[in-house]
Amino acid sequence: MAENKFPCTVAGKCGGCQLTNMTYEKQLSFKQAKVIKLMGRFCRVSEIIGMDEPFHYRNKVQAAFGMTRGGQIISGVYQSSTHRIVKVDKCFIEDKQADEIIVTVRNLLKSFKLSVYNENNGNGFLRHVLVRKAFGTGEIMVVLVTGTPVFKSKNSFCEALLKAHPEITTIVQNVNNKFTSMVLGDKQTVLYGDGYITDILCGMKFRISPKSFYQINYKGTEILYSKALEFAELTGKERVIDAYSGVGTIGLLASKTAGEVISVELNSEAVSDAKINAKINDVKNIKFFNDDATPFMLEMAKAGESADVVLLDPPRAGCTQSFLRSVVALSPEKVVYVSCNPETLARDVLYLTKSGGYKAKKCQPVDMFPFTGHVETVVLLAKK
Ligand code: SAH
Repeated sequence: MAENKFPCTVAGKCGGCQLTNMTYEKQLSFKQAKVIKLMGRFCRVSEIIGMDEPFHYRNKVQAAFGMTRGGQIISGVYQSSTHRIVKVDKCFIEDKQADEIIVTVRNLLKSFKLSVYNENNGNGFLRHVLVRKAFGTGEIMVVLVTGTPVFKSKNSFCEALLKAHPEITTIVQNVNNKFTSMVLGDKQTVLYGDGYITDILCGMKFRISPKSFYQINYKGTEILYSKALEFAELTGKERVIDAYSGVGTIGLLASKTAGEVISVELNSEAVSDAKINAKINDVKNIKFFNDDATPFMLEMAKAGESADVVLLDPPRAGCTQSFLRSVVALSPEKVVYVSCNPETLARDVLYLTKSGGYKAKKCQPVDMFPFTGHVETVVLLAKK
């Protein structure tokens, strides 16, 4: 077990970590109690699986760029519910290399006489830097989010960045000129490398593009996905639906022991990645659909389709009731629900158990987000 000291000086202002005053052991019991409170009425909650190394797990690091009143360029995070930037150079939960790259970018701005974006008037150049690292392969993507497409001396800037960090495998410029709190804009240009990174997770390869979702804790994800697949107990014959499939991770892992997999995901960039991921892993029994999961499942239910297992992994808001109604209509023997928000998980499990004829059988929390209040949970539901 790693030592529990968390000497972060900006935790109060940053707001990213809520449990910095607790030892790691205490955090685990806090999260266990939280999941029991919400899920304990449905079934026994297994003991939370913690991380051996609760520090520097974030493989995706985002920094906002701005200027102090004194005219100094700073980078970091927005102070919770404000647009004031809190300077962060090192973070205890972020990948160290990613943090170093962000500091280098900040120092290079000065030497290249590049400005930072001003949110008030929309002037200026660099808005955010996003660094994503594939922990399984070491590949690193740097996304420079700029307020304008014009990038003075971009080739020499990239050369200098690569000289300082030869571990970077691709650099992308993303243009975001809108007044928005969204980090990434619509237009993207690859400045160096392939424009994506490839990770190896649970023995399979996954291509990840700048806008595709990918779990932020590598080791935690391997544990989480193994649990989800263990709960699904596939035998090689099943028709499986993977809803909210991202770059295809869970569906592709399931495909090895399923008859066929049908995946649905809203983000088109993630679906393009997923289709390529099927090819590079030589998986032929999977289909990807770029659609909102609710109408997609409604259509399947209306067409009288069925499924043996439904795997679902929605965003924090959970599922819509019509999505859940369609799951019930498709009548799978098993539903494996992966959730990053136990509150919406409990709401959806209540629906499936009360109105859908399912019973919760297993519930496994995994601490994917040490030092924050968040917890990931996987639940197995089976027909009563
Ligand atoms: N299972 C994947 C992704 C989980 S994150 C993984 O483990 O990597 C949730 C995913 O749901 C994201 O990729 C997001 O783009 C997608 N999503 C959000 N709303 C959706 C909707 N209404 N229908 C389908 N997919 C949606």
